[in-house]
Formats: sequence, C-alpha cells, structure tokens
Amino acid sequence: MWTKPTSDAVAETPDVYGAYPRLTDAQLAALAALGTERDIMPREALFVEGERNCDFYAVLDCRVATVEGYQTPGERVISVHGRGRFLGELGLLTGESVFYSAVATAAGRVLAVPVDRLTDLVRRDPAVGDVVLRAFLTRRSILIGLGVGMRIVGSRYSPDTGRIREFAARNRIPSHWLDLDDDKEAEHLLTVLDVRPDETPIVILYGRQVLRNPANAELAAAIGLPAPTVPRAGCELLVVGAGPAGLAAAIVGASEGMDTVVLDAIAAGGQAGSAARIDSYPGFPSGLSGAELARGAELQARQFGAQFAVPAQAVSAELDYGQWTVQLTDGTSVSAGLMIIASGARYRRPAVPRLEHFEPRCVFYAAAQAEAVACRGDPVVVLGAGNPAGQATALLSRYASQVTLIARDHDLGEHMSRYLADRIRLLPNVTILLRAELDGLIGDETLAAVAATDQSGVRHVIDARALFVFIGATPCTGWLGELVALDANGFVRTGQDAEAPIGAVLPHTSWRRSALETSQPGIFAAGDVRSGSTKRVAAAVGEGAMAVRLGLEFLQHA
Ligand SMILES: Cc1cc2nc3c(=O)[nH]c(=O)nc-3n(C[C@H](O)[C@H](O)[C@H](O)COP(=O)(O)OP(=O)(O)OC[C@H]3O[C@@H](n4cnc5c(N)ncnc54)[C@H](O)[C@@H]3O)c2cc1C
Repeated sequence: MWTKPTSDAVAETPDVYGAYPRLTDAQLAALAALGTERDIMPREALFVEGERNCDFYAVLDCRVATVEGYQTPGERVISVHGRGRFLGELGLLTGESVFYSAVATAAGRVLAVPVDRLTDLVRRDPAVGDVVLRAFLTRRSILIGLGVGMRIVGSRYSPDTGRIREFAARNRIPSHWLDLDDDKEAEHLLTVLDVRPDETPIVILYGRQVLRNPANAELAAAIGLPAPTVPRAGCELLVVGAGPAGLAAAIVGASEGMDTVVLDAIAAGGQAGSAARIDSYPGFPSGLSGAELARGAELQARQFGAQFAVPAQAVSAELDYGQWTVQLTDGTSVSAGLMIIASGARYRRPAVPRLEHFEPRCVFYAAAQAEAVACRGDPVVVLGAGNPAGQATALLSRYASQVTLIARDHDLGEHMSRYLADRIRLLPNVTILLRAELDGLIGDETLAAVAATDQSGVRHVIDARALFVFIGATPCTGWLGELVALDANGFVRTGQDAEAPIGAVLPHTSWRRSALETSQPGIFAAGDVRSGSTKRVAAAVGEGAMAVRLGLEFLQHA
C-alpha cells in the first residue's frame, strides 16, 4: 500500500540536471489555454505504469510523486514535484507506455493538456518547446541510470539476452538486466512466474506482463514503440538507415514538405546512438550524448511528419516502373521517387580464435553507459586506435578496475585526436600497449584474459572480463546488390568517383552527377556508408541534409 510521501511537506526533488524545470506563469498560461484544470485527491493516480496516451500534466498547487511499482511491495519513489513543474518524459511524445505512475501526495489542482495539443505548442512556441523537450530527454537518461523500466531476465550466455539488451540500449528503453547466472533474484523470479529455463530470456513489463524470449518487433509493440509504418502507395523520399545521416535527411526532407519514410533495422540513432559521448559536434564544447542526439533528431523528424519504419531491414533494392523499390525482411516493400542510402557501417571483428565463443556476452562493439556499468570493478581491454577506442577507454576507466588499450599504432596520436590521446594517457587505471596485435582470448565460459604480442615478439597476457573492439568499419551495403557502384571495401561511390553502370538511364544530356549522387542517377548516399566519408557525426548530418537538396535539384531537372 501507498505509505510513502502523503503531504505537501514532502520535499521536492531538486532540479540538479535540468530535468525538472519550473514553468513560468506565462508558459502556464499558454498551456492553460489548451487544457483543463482539475482537482485531485491525495493518493489519486494521474496515470499508472503501462498506460498509454496519457495527458501532459502541469502541477498547479499540490505535490505529485512519480513512483515505480505503485502499490506493490517493491514500490519506490522516483521524484516529487510542486507548483510549476510538469510530469511525463520522452515516451509521452513518442507514444510509449509510461514506465512509472504519477500519484498526488496531497489534495490540490493540476492542469491536464492532451498530448496532441502539447505537441502542437512545442512546435509553435520554441520557448516552451525547448524547456519540455530538454527536460523529457534528461528524464529518460535519469530513468535509464536508475534502472527503472522493463526487467530482462536471462543468461549472459544466451545470444537472445544480448539481442534484447542491444535492442533496449539502441532504443533507449529504460531497463534492468538480471543475469540468471549470478543473480539469486532472477532465479526466484522464474520460479514465482512459473517460467521454464528454456523459455528464457524473459522480459517483465510494468511489473505484470511477462514476454517469453520476445522478437524485437513483439517487444516494440508491447512497449508501445510506434509500429513500422510502411506506406503501401509509396512515398516521395525514402531514407534507408536512421543514423545521423538518415535522420538529418529525414528532417530536411520532411521539413521541405516531402512525403518521407525512414527505415532502420534496429533503432534510430545508428552508431552515434550507442556512443556515450559525441565529441567534435559543433555547438557542444563539452560533448553531447549520442543517445540524446539520436532521440532529439528522431523527434524533430517526426514533428515535421517523417514516418519511421523501425525495426525494418532492407534486404534488396531495384528500379521498378520509375520508382526505387526496397524489399524488407518481412516480405513487404516500399517505393519512392528519390532514395538516400544512409545505412552506415558496422565495426570490424578481429581475426582471433574463439571470438564467437565469447560474443556477445564478453566482446562488445560499442561502449555505452550500460556496458560500462556492467563492467564495474572488472579489468577490461579496449582494442583500436581511433577516437571511438579513445572515448570507450575514457568512459570505461570510470567503472572498470583497469583498462588496457591495445593498438597497432606506433603512437596514440596517429589516428586519435590529440586531446583525447592526452586525456587517456593521464588516467591512472589505463595502460596503453602500442605496436601490439591481439592474438588470443583466454577463458572457459567467460573471458578471463586476452593475449597480445608486441612488435618485439613479447607475449602479454592481460586480465580481462570484457573486450571492447573498435578497429574500423564494414559498410552495410549488402542489401544494395549491384544496384550502385561500390569501392574495393564495399563503400558506395559517389560524385566523380562513381561510374554510371551500363544501362543506367541518364536523365538528360546536360546531366552532371552531383557530389553525393551514386552511379545510379537519382540515388544519393550520405554518411559513413559513402566511400571516402569523414566518419564523423557532423559530416554525416551535413551530408544527409545536402543529399536532400541535391535530390530535389535532380527531380526538378529530371
Ligand atoms: C562508440 C562510438 C563513438 C563515436 N564517437 C564519435 C564522436 O565522438 N564524434 C563523431 O563525430 N563521431 C563519432 N563516432 C562515429 C559516428 O557515430 C558515425 O560517423 C556516425 O554515426 C555515422 O552516421 P551514419 O548515419 O552515416 O551511419 P550509422 O550511424 O552507421 O547509421 C546507419 C543506420 O543504418 C541502419 N541500417 C544498416 N543496414 C540497414 C538495412 N539493411 N536496412 C535498414 N537499416 C539499416 C543501422 O541500423 C544504423 O542505425 C562514434 C562511433 C562509435 C561507434
């Protein structure tokens, strides 16, 4: 039963990170014009865990607590809010079910605003929009940090546990993983829920709904992530890949009034979505969280009317009656007059024996907060010499007991930005092993150590419970077949570098291929997937935006 904060004397949660700002009287007045004031009684729930399509609430003269597991033995208060504060988090705008309940701690009044009206105000009034969006994004990060949200119960040895955890991380779904191999509570939960070991991993939602080894699409539907919307009649602009390049293309395309569809196989955000911090992005001198960049850009694209089909993987593409048609894994297809390839790249895997044996439980290709926290107190190894390896080292050093960075380079500054190399050299629990080659993974079920041989032939055996790999990227271009010209490494050739394939129909005699145009007139490529690209978020964003402009010019002259 609810025995926690029940009076106005309850202290408000301080606004340390800008997650709980107070609306000004003018902002409250703007909201009041769109909603209705309501009386609430002590212990009345404004919304409960698992509910969807709730209103947006501003607190007028009472206190409201947000609570996980309301009226259950595991109940915990997340935050408490008074006059001028507002409730909700990112899911309110994206349509996800709520991960906690909001309960009045004393009688008073609140202002309820339907979400569609709030969305409209956010678009029209940048002052309100900025306050609400920033708070919602920060609140999502806080929820992830607190481990509020869905429970994943599964063994670290199960690839499906890894898949579900990756899906949660890439989609920024607040979650908490209970490892069946060393968590007593996990075993207990399975007994209580009557789940057989072969039915794991399971996902427990809102304390009551149990999904047995759900596919990504089933999980997405249960959480209320928007269902993949693939228009039957086709669209004007099709963007394949929702990393920074695809998101920028979607924002610009949709804001230019184009009927825009974006596909992504896993989640919006791409590689950037799994990066703990994006450095060197203009306007953010102290870096920017990749997940926030991804979520913010997705929201913006949706606000301009872009449709997202996620998770939806492109498996092939062809020209069909003057339209580019992309087939998806579920057998459906989508067509468009203009297509932008923004399917990016995936990090390479090292050629070392027993790699598959330790993947995905002990070998990682990204280092976001979730992986870093899971390594708390353990020694880990990072492989690679570029900026992603440097950033992973810096992040992991905050949690791991010891981080060893192994690189082939002679000097850390060869491929890593100088400021980053200098920063990690100064970290007390970081060891750097240069001119060395990883050649062994040691351990039975889990990784115990890695072996590396340096240039002088000395073999180093380094304690490690996890290996983080950042050794370059392989382009995600398999789905293109022979549709466009690729370079020797499989990246898409564009501009002068691209030769029109035999049989390609040139739009008109004066036609000249533009900078981001592929060998197929009318198909453009942007971001990491492009041959010779800069492999940076800022570059990907710029190219995504520019590809739309070049595409529109192409259509005008075609
Ligand atoms: C850990 C890490 C840290 C980084 N740090 C920085 C940094 O600090 N600063 C910086 O500037 N850059 C950084 N980068 C690099 C930066 O993230 C990339 O340059 C950028 O994400 C490239 O964007 P993109 O949109 O071109 O491709 P991606 O980000 O690779 O996105 C491509 C998207 O396409 C989807 N996709 C692939 N194939 C298909 C298919 N067949 N069908 C549908 N969808 C598909 C993928 O799921 C993915 O979401 C970092 C990268 C990593 C991994």
